[in-house]
Amino acid sequence: MNAEVIAVGSELLLGQIANTNGQYVSRRLAEAGISVYRHTVVGDNENRLREAAEEAGRRADIVIFSGGLGPTSDDLTRDALARELNRSLIIHPPSLEQIEAFMKDKGKTVSAANERQAYILEGADPFVNRAGLACGMAVTEGDTLYLLLPGPPHELKRMIDADVIPYLSAKGWAAGSIVSRELKFFGIGESALHDSLAVMIEEQKNPTAAPLASEGEVALRLTARGDSVLQAEQMLDGLESKLPPEMKKLIYGKNDVSLAAAAVERLKQTASTVAVAESLTGGGVLEALTSIPGASSVVKGGAVTYQTEAKQNNLEVSEEIIHKHGVISAACAEAMAENVRKMYGASFGIALTGVAGPTPQEGEPAGKFYIGVASADGTTSTQFMEPGSRERVRLMATKHACHQLLK
Ligand code: ATP
Ligand code: MG
Repeated sequence: MNAEVIAVGSELLLGQIANTNGQYVSRRLAEAGISVYRHTVVGDNENRLREAAEEAGRRADIVIFSGGLGPTSDDLTRDALARELNRSLIIHPPSLEQIEAFMKDKGKTVSAANERQAYILEGADPFVNRAGLACGMAVTEGDTLYLLLPGPPHELKRMIDADVIPYLSAKGWAAGSIVSRELKFFGIGESALHDSLAVMIEEQKNPTAAPLASEGEVALRLTARGDSVLQAEQMLDGLESKLPPEMKKLIYGKNDVSLAAAAVERLKQTASTVAVAESLTGGGVLEALTSIPGASSVVKGGAVTYQTEAKQNNLEVSEEIIHKHGVISAACAEAMAENVRKMYGASFGIALTGVAGPTPQEGEPAGKFYIGVASADGTTSTQFMEPGSRERVRLMATKHACHQLLK
């Protein structure tokens, strides 16, 4: 079975809202074992809507519309499909009663516009809207099933979960489950990841593995199609266990876990705390760590010592270090880490100093920075060189700092 999703609404085309309905429909269909081959976005225009319906209907087994079932004159999905399939519109009495009750509650009568929301195509199976007023529906024409769903995301989600998925299962359209898992890597690029796992990426048919890159990180998305969610999960476990040990070591988390979340989790697990001294990131590391719920049990605090003077006065970095090594140095990062650890009484002190760019500073190039780590075991530091904009350098420095806590 394959499906196409048509999201209706000029506001989508104007870039005013993101097509989150398309995303939700795709995810839920994948879980039901239905492959989605295309997403189309079309404005509130009857001709283009009919054209999109006709094209998708020729290709797909299931065509799902989101939006355009409301009461206003720009809500055209119902009428457009009725004309395209040459069906009349008939009233769905339970939906009309629901609209009448809603209006009565508000002390109003039902207008012709409101009433439109209770119309369905002749021969359609109705889906009563449990979160709004517009009735959804399923219409079969030849070999194609058309599903018309309301646009407001909470109404659409409710209808998908409560009506559409059970409807597809009952009709025998939903078969098996597609499950995906993202393994998140740090410290390896997309092409290096691809080269290391070329066989797995290129030769696997089910489950499959595909690398994805975003903001200085890479992930490997594993996808399996099984008879059930459980079976698909087991297939993913099997594929994951085949990863070489040196690659497994670079995985810091799965799915929605961020480096900061993984760092906070690690600190919790080891009953450790951290204090952070920041220069080029200006508080970005503390912001990332404290954005994670429960960070208060592991993040002691820290200091943003941006100017040299602040590093001396507030973090007690010595005159000697400043003059002998400069502030963009391993020695300075280590002193900052050690001192912030001591000042806050934390298990770990993390410190960052370097050049965010875009111009060089103190003879050091943009993108060069040091991260110091102080703990009961001693103090170390690492030099990094990240290319790109000021924004990217600061982001990568933040990620590297969080990553230090995972070592
Ligand atoms: P209404 O009764 O509210 O008019 P409708 O079924 O006619 O509902 P639309 O008018 O197309 O649906 O959209 C209603 C609201 O739902 C939009 O203003 C928008 O905020 C949201 N919405 C519509 N389509 C999408 C989509 N694809 N993704 C996310 N949000 C959407
Ligand atoms: Mg509308």
